[in-house]
Amino acid sequence: MDLHERLLVQVSVRDVYDAATLAGHPGSGLVFTGQAGHDAVRMVRRAGYDGPLLADRRRYAGSARVRGTARLSADWIADQVEAGATVPLTDSGYVGRGDHEALHAILEQALQWDGAVAVLPVHARWVIEDRGTLLRTVTDYGSPVALVVEDGPPYRPVPLPLLSAGVAALGSLAYGARWAAIGVREVLRHLYPEPHEVRGGWRRGGARSAFVAERLEFVPVERLGEGTCGCSTCHGRPLRHLAEAEELHVNTHNAKALHGLHNRLMRATHRERWWHTLTQAAAAGGGTPRTTAPGTP
Ligand SMILES: [Zn+2]
Repeated sequence: MDLHERLLVQVSVRDVYDAATLAGHPGSGLVFTGQAGHDAVRMVRRAGYDGPLLADRRRYAGSARVRGTARLSADWIADQVEAGATVPLTDSGYVGRGDHEALHAILEQALQWDGAVAVLPVHARWVIEDRGTLLRTVTDYGSPVALVVEDGPPYRPVPLPLLSAGVAALGSLAYGARWAAIGVREVLRHLYPEPHEVRGGWRRGGARSAFVAERLEFVPVERLGEGTCGCSTCHGRPLRHLAEAEELHVNTHNAKALHGLHNRLMRATHRERWWHTLTQAAAAGGGTPRTTAPGTP
């Protein structure tokens, strides 16, 4: 079992019973999030799931996040190995803007475990102005890594694995990353800067968003437009039907639509060019009816 060119789905521990639905297709796999992530890995493995499984402790997110200089846990690595994770991920803290000390602390500590993936949750500046330094430092240490990029300005895809990403996961695969993970829901597709202002407040049932392939965007289900979807969950129906659907139904559409794009990416002769063309077309409106603006009847 290998992570090679996989597009993984990053989920919560509570999604454990839906694992096969969300990541049952070839080329997929799962990342369970949080400190019980390894327990979910064990359950899904015992239930016979044969795709790649990872556990991301995500100590780098939220208002109580730790700095990247924090000591990495050997128990966390051992728990993942014992649970049957494909490779163990470090329980890294956050690497702030210009925090070289934190970056080195994570990479240095990760060397003590053979094959462990050093998780690097970074301020957006690290993939823009400090991109060269980041890539050189990662190469110098030689450990496998996975980036988590904090919300910030758009950036050119980085050829390194990504955790907790949105469609940027496909971009990094197009640029040569070994694997990447897209979050199944909004909070798992972002690393919000702290202190984090919650916009729009708390919504009952959580904000469900559907992936619209032509726009390369996740759109809140209440704002979906006229377009239809040919995936085996939607059966050619208008995407709008997802507004009335259960969260699992919406997320199954998302997984299938993303899987379709992933397949096209893998078949593309020039992947970077393919990604560039796709993002240009999406920015130009995708050639399909746009979703109606919020507030229009
Ligand atoms: Zn669909």
